[in-house]
Amino acid sequence: MIKPNKTPSIMELYPEETREAAALLRQAVPLMMRHDIPPNPVHYALWYTYSKGHEPELNQRLDNALKDFDSFPPEVATKLFHDYVIRGEIEEARAGQRQVIELVDDIEDDVTSNVLGSRNYQTSLEVGLAALQEPVTDDLPQVLIELQESTQQMHELQGKFLYRLHAAQEQIKHLRGQLERAHIAATLDSLTQVFNRHAFNRLLEKALSNGHEGVALIMLDIDHFKDFNDQYGHPLGDRVLQHVGKLMRELLPANAMAARYGGEEFCVILCDSPDVAQTYAIANQLRLKIQSLRIKVRSTDKVLDSITASFGHAQAQAGDDLERLLTRADDALYEAKRNGRNQVHPAAPVDALSA
Ligand code: GH3
Ligand code: MG
Ligand code: MG
Repeated sequence: MIKPNKTPSIMELYPEETREAAALLRQAVPLMMRHDIPPNPVHYALWYTYSKGHEPELNQRLDNALKDFDSFPPEVATKLFHDYVIRGEIEEARAGQRQVIELVDDIEDDVTSNVLGSRNYQTSLEVGLAALQEPVTDDLPQVLIELQESTQQMHELQGKFLYRLHAAQEQIKHLRGQLERAHIAATLDSLTQVFNRHAFNRLLEKALSNGHEGVALIMLDIDHFKDFNDQYGHPLGDRVLQHVGKLMRELLPANAMAARYGGEEFCVILCDSPDVAQTYAIANQLRLKIQSLRIKVRSTDKVLDSITASFGHAQAQAGDDLERLLTRADDALYEAKRNGRNQVHPAAPVDALSA
């Protein structure tokens, strides 16, 4: 099964080295200036991503926004920033992203002052060389002193720039770790360590947008869990949820993504399950494993009666969106409950529903 901590982090999405990042900024800034877009971190990030070109949909939406509006409205910028740059991450990730953008801004300033310094140096070299070619050599000591001074200045500027680059590299390393931790925290359910609902929605939308072929959804709900909590207490109920999460992480195949949908309900997205029989087999295997869980009450060493869960599953059909697929799996789950629980129920074929 796909491990949650293998989700690409923001830093993995932006792996450019400083030189490459500076080149992208050099493309982004003239674009912003051409369209009168104020230079703020959100705009920098958007046009940086635009220049990188790895989010064609963002590029299309930015092009459209520029066509549709005389100016670039801040709310459009914020929405695109959320959808394509920070991708709905939690606050820490946003803060991290802001810091990265500020850092890139700093580096850009340094690159600019370094370029200006080089230009000045070049000018003074040209002036110096021209003076050296003059037949009159009265000015020679002065020319040499000036050349020496500007070489010294250039040397200092380069030194400062290198120092800043080293400091920026250290800071990037630190931010990378911070962002990775925030990213994992943002996608995982802290109790069960499977994906949370927010990540689940994004993963399912993405799976459906890649085509419906082979996409299937399993929903499961622990049976009589309220009674379990009432009888054994909430903390033990939490342990059951943790065990179910662990089972899912360990048991599911590589093409599966497990998520806690809420409370005692879990979902599995399958991206390569061509038919109902295969989806059923995976759900049923999970059902049997949950049924054979043996949970011990630590204080008394008593082993509890078996926990069971009911399952509904549905194959994605052409035209399905997240809501339609979820509704079909949920209806199937309801049937499994109605028929007596601890069983797997497939969704009714779409044709039968519309008949
Ligand atoms: P059914 O077989 O019809 O699903 O019955 P049920 O009792 O499982 O369903 P119901 O929806 O009535 O109750 C769900 C229970 O799940 C209620 C709530 O106490 C429990 N629950 C939800 N989230 C948590 C949690 O995070 N920890 C614990 N321990 N219990 C939870
Ligand atoms: Mg429930
Ligand atoms: Mg339940």
